[in-house]
Amino acid sequence: MTKKDFAYHLKNIQHYYGNTKVLDIDDLKIETGSITGLIGPNGSGKSTLLKLLAFARKPTRGRIFYKGHLELPFSSTVRSKITLLTQKPYLLKRTVFENITYGLKIRKDKNNLENRVKKALLNVGLDYQNFAQRKWHELSGGEAQRVAMAARLILKPEVLLLDEPIASVDTESARLIRQASLKARDNWGTTLVIASHDLQWLYSISDRQLSIFKGNIFSTGMENIITGPFVKPDVKPDDKPLVKKLDDGQIITLKAPAPKTCTAIIRKKNISIALKKQPGNGMDNQLSGHIVSMLLEKKSGHIMTTISIHDLCFILTLPPDQVSRLDLYPGKKVILGFYSNDVEWI
Ligand code: ADP
Repeated sequence: MTKKDFAYHLKNIQHYYGNTKVLDIDDLKIETGSITGLIGPNGSGKSTLLKLLAFARKPTRGRIFYKGHLELPFSSTVRSKITLLTQKPYLLKRTVFENITYGLKIRKDKNNLENRVKKALLNVGLDYQNFAQRKWHELSGGEAQRVAMAARLILKPEVLLLDEPIASVDTESARLIRQASLKARDNWGTTLVIASHDLQWLYSISDRQLSIFKGNIFSTGMENIITGPFVKPDVKPDDKPLVKKLDDGQIITLKAPAPKTCTAIIRKKNISIALKKQPGNGMDNQLSGHIVSMLLEKKSGHIMTTISIHDLCFILTLPPDQVSRLDLYPGKKVILGFYSNDVEWI
């Protein structure tokens, strides 16, 4: 792949608000024309990352290359090509028509506006007759989000960044936003990066998922996070592991040493699933839980399976043959196994 095949290359990015570090990304590449899903709890840094990708904020440290060129925030080269849509879309206090044509007018592009607005509205499931002359306050939340999306798509952006685009919209709007995003990629090769809490929706649209937690990126998608407090068990030897005690009596053994404020990450690939405990296999964590949900990951055909171990949630991506061999279904009791040595601390 050449440098140009990557819309973005982030190198040694760190971002601080005051003294608090909220992003720490060594190296991240995003392919041109790809759809990347960003997953992570509130406050993990998703919006900040999207603002950096929009060149709307300067990272405290590090460099961002766009299509092989080092770019600076607010650069006019990228400003017209990259667009960010936030959860609560900002609409001008004007009609839908004026909102959608605003970006074109700034670019002094006034050709055939009516037809283009018709098409743009149709793309997000709104008809021109009904909506073009409506005022900004005569729209539902879902309609406002779709108008904001149409206003961006009419500019045929090279990059469309969506920050929780379906957090406050109805199911039909979520479907239409998904459809319009895919169309932008297919028709114009638009690169999309989308943060969403709705995993099912995100998995149905994205080619790749990045997990973000405390500003760190995990490129293999949703990883499993165990937060403290952790304690030292009352056993020898001195190099004691840390453990997390669950209220149901189960104990998770994690490797030492690590400061008590750290968070443990266990990658999906290091977790096995079985129907019974296997005492002889040397795995120091074998935890009982049950399956709470199973979702089809469209691109890989694998099944994203969420397992609850008391109040902790683990996510595994399982091949369909394993699911049928073990006869897995929501509600089924399972054993998750992993070695404490495979724990990573962040
Ligand atoms: P997310 O989108 O994953 O919820 P954000 O990128 O919005 O995460 O925030 C990451 C962290 O940075 C949070 O702890 C948040 O409180 C903090 N933060 C976000 N914006 C600002 C700001 N403008 N000033 C100070 N702290 C901020």
